[in-house]
Amino acid sequence: MAGRHFDVLIIGGGNAGVSLAARLHRYGVKDVAVVEPEDHHLYQPLFSHIAGGRAKASEAIRPQRSVMPRGVEWIRDGAVDIDPAGNTVSLASGGQLGFGHLVVCPGLQLDWDKIPGLAEAVHSPFGASHYEFSLAPKAWTLLSGLKAGTAVFTMPSGPIKCGGAAQKPMYLACDYWREQGVLQDIRVVMVQPSHTVFGVPGVDDELNRKIAQYGIELRCNSEVTSVDAAGQTARIRDNGTGATEELRYDVLNAVPPQSAPDWLKDTELPALGDSGGFVEVDPETLRHVRFPNIWSLGDAAATTNSKSGGALRKQTSVLAKNLVAARQGKPLPEKYNGYSVCPFTVSRSTVVFAEFDDQYRPMPTIPKVPTWKESRTSWVVDRDIFPRVYWNLILKGRA
Ligand SMILES: Cc1cc2nc3c(=O)[nH]c(=O)nc-3n(C[C@H](O)[C@H](O)[C@H](O)COP(=O)(O)OP(=O)(O)OC[C@H]3O[C@@H](n4cnc5c(N)ncnc54)[C@H](O)[C@@H]3O)c2cc1C
Repeated sequence: MAGRHFDVLIIGGGNAGVSLAARLHRYGVKDVAVVEPEDHHLYQPLFSHIAGGRAKASEAIRPQRSVMPRGVEWIRDGAVDIDPAGNTVSLASGGQLGFGHLVVCPGLQLDWDKIPGLAEAVHSPFGASHYEFSLAPKAWTLLSGLKAGTAVFTMPSGPIKCGGAAQKPMYLACDYWREQGVLQDIRVVMVQPSHTVFGVPGVDDELNRKIAQYGIELRCNSEVTSVDAAGQTARIRDNGTGATEELRYDVLNAVPPQSAPDWLKDTELPALGDSGGFVEVDPETLRHVRFPNIWSLGDAAATTNSKSGGALRKQTSVLAKNLVAARQGKPLPEKYNGYSVCPFTVSRSTVVFAEFDDQYRPMPTIPKVPTWKESRTSWVVDRDIFPRVYWNLILKGRA
């Protein structure tokens, strides 16, 4: 591998990397390679449905080879360092690759160790996490098996993948418990750092209505600081008052803190002082602010939006057009507007569809349709149509 050079090298063959590679190839950039160590590709939005008993794990995974665009080279290796001055990427196998342009999109790492006891808890018989593919089916086994007791759902502070996704299995489980006639025997607690249930007007009203309907205890402005797995107890801190509380659980579904991969934090690409380690791009053009032939999009980019696949779908189109223009020495034509999306599965057959900008102001795709209202149609779109659009259009650079 040593010494190979690509016009465009992409680090990460996830949602961003594959869809961007396909789009660039379609736009006539022929010498594109994707560095991706995993032999499988995951559609992460279905993890919530798996944890809520509404999808099979097999629906969220495909061989990486099957999604790699034709004409794009897949380098099955991991990036471990980037030299922006030398235009090279070092690989885990020891090789080096040269690039004309580099796009950095290795997603986020799950920082289990940032909360003492959390890793042990989600691997114990009473804990799970739908943020880990291997643990999502376990979440449903535990949630569906609960007939009485306390179920605790948690979201950490800091940027995470699809912030609202922390709540999704909770609503799916509550609706299941309601169907089974046991909801009144289960204390459901949601612990999250934000000041309101999500932050988008209208969406909050709908979510609060469902929370009241299911009798959920919503702990805003709060987070888990440690977990005693053996004692099935989570320590919760109210970030407003500083008060702490020990919460005993029968089932814990936890979302871990997240940040850019450690090796990326150690490169020159993040801004000085950015502990999250995200790639310092112009949030509109997605071009690095200091290295003009380096770009980033998706979860690892230091953009201002809420991180989601829906956000990066818009970013992919912007970045591809800007990169093509930059290669031709032209001004960058496109700007990303901070759009993001979160479909809340508020029951086993309805969704509240939040579309918003980077200030959490509503940003509906179809302005006159109230998609933030609980709806059966939105469920069909999220559960049945989006996965097909993802595998057949988004990953092919066509949506
Ligand atoms: C539970 C859950 C629910 C979600 N629900 C939704 C939703 O409903 N709607 C929505 O829009 N979004 C949702 N998302 C978010 C969405 O999945 C992510 O925003 C999206 O996958 C980010 O794409 P990405 O390419 O930046 O990162 P990823 O898709 O995570 O891909 C990163 C890729 O980089 C690879 N990689 C890692 N390290 C290296 C390395 N050193 N070298 C090379 N490659 C590397 C990884 O193997 C991976 O393939 C959800 C996410 C989760 C976890």
